[in-house]
Amino acid sequence: MCKAKREGKIFVISAPSGTGKSTVVKYIMKKNPYIKRSISYTTRFPREDEVDKKDYFFITPLEFKRKIKEGFFVEWAMVHGRYYGTSCSFINEVIKNGKKALLVIDVQGALQIRRKCPRNSILIFLLPPSLKELGKRLKKRGTETAKNFIQRLRTAKKEFHKIKYYDYLIVNDRIEGAAKEIKKILDSGGKIGKNNS
Ligand code: ADP
Ligand code: 5GP
Repeated sequence: MCKAKREGKIFVISAPSGTGKSTVVKYIMKKNPYIKRSISYTTRFPREDEVDKKDYFFITPLEFKRKIKEGFFVEWAMVHGRYYGTSCSFINEVIKNGKKALLVIDVQGALQIRRKCPRNSILIFLLPPSLKELGKRLKKRGTETAKNFIQRLRTAKKEFHKIKYYDYLIVNDRIEGAAKEIKKILDSGGKIGKNNS
């Protein structure tokens, strides 16, 4: 796994729910269509504006568990009570063909990618300007029930403890600013000033 002659790079972006990672990544993808974006598999239900096979592959828990057994996922995790995972074939294709790819996944998944592809992975953590602002953004999106809202904020606090494992920390204050910082990291192949070097 993850060995090839001309190796690609996997840029992993994690952030607590509501920080704005989907928004920032959409902005980056629009301006840089050459970057490949992994489409994850999940057992959660699609949101109103989400499209199957474009935003996620929406599958049943039974299908997901079957895929785990088959070794289909390079990483998978239970996040906010639902399964999420990235396919091995996507990662292998990117690495084998010397491409650059973006994965927008949680901290558990990010650490699995780091373990399996240590030479090819660059981990970026996107931070909200404050916890208060995070709550505001999550509310503004209007996709969560009161119970889910509290669960996502609770998970956020746990996720902050993992930022030490990340190569880069970026604050999503303004969308364009955060996108520009991430673009610099992508362009450098993950070689400019790291958080933990
Ligand atoms: P995530 O993918 O991290 O869960 P989203 O991209 O869905 O978060 O963004 C959550 C909400 O915050 C959305 O309503 C989005 O429009 C808004 N948002 C994203 N980035 C910013 C920003 N820099 N400033 C203000 N609002 C933002
Ligand atoms: P959401 O339900 O808001 O789309 O995503 C919830 C969380 O699951 C986010 O932190 C998101 O990054 C994460 N996530 C999305 N896809 C994957 C994946 O394939 N693997 C893992 N581990 N996490 C994922």
